Amino acid sequence: MSDCLFCKIVAGDIPAELVHEDARVVAFRDINPQAPTHVLIIPREHIPTINDLDAAHEPLVGALFSVAKKIAGDEGLSDDGYRVVMNCNEGAGQSVFHIHLHLLGGRPLHWPPG
Ligand code: 5GP
Ligand code: ZN
Repeated sequence: MSDCLFCKIVAGDIPAELVHEDARVVAFRDINPQAPTHVLIIPREHIPTINDLDAAHEPLVGALFSVAKKIAGDEGLSDDGYRVVMNCNEGAGQSVFHIHLHLLGGRPLHWPPG
């Protein structure tokens, strides 16, 4: 998608602080971090929202979580804990319509989120 911010990051057209990339997944630090660690984990494929997922995407979604787990370990968060969340549509706070997992950690995280 030529007008998608995260597709531009995947393409290298907009700079980002990458922490992981592989054939399917790219991860980079959030520009407006909400915790000491705040990383966004995205598929290279443009998928606007969770509502656009189908069964064929199941391995890809699994890969997003595997990358989240790896980065959490790299950031030293595995024992203390961390949160992985994906917002769907504006009512839940989604502002970039290319699916992304938020990985948050490094401070106490309260529940429920606002
Ligand atoms: P959402 O609100 O869609 O769940 O999350 C979008 C996230 O993307 C926000 O946390 C926001 O700070 C982040 N973001 C927006 N624009 C940029 C950008 O240009 N670079 C990076 N690294 N993060 C961005
Ligand atoms: Zn996109």
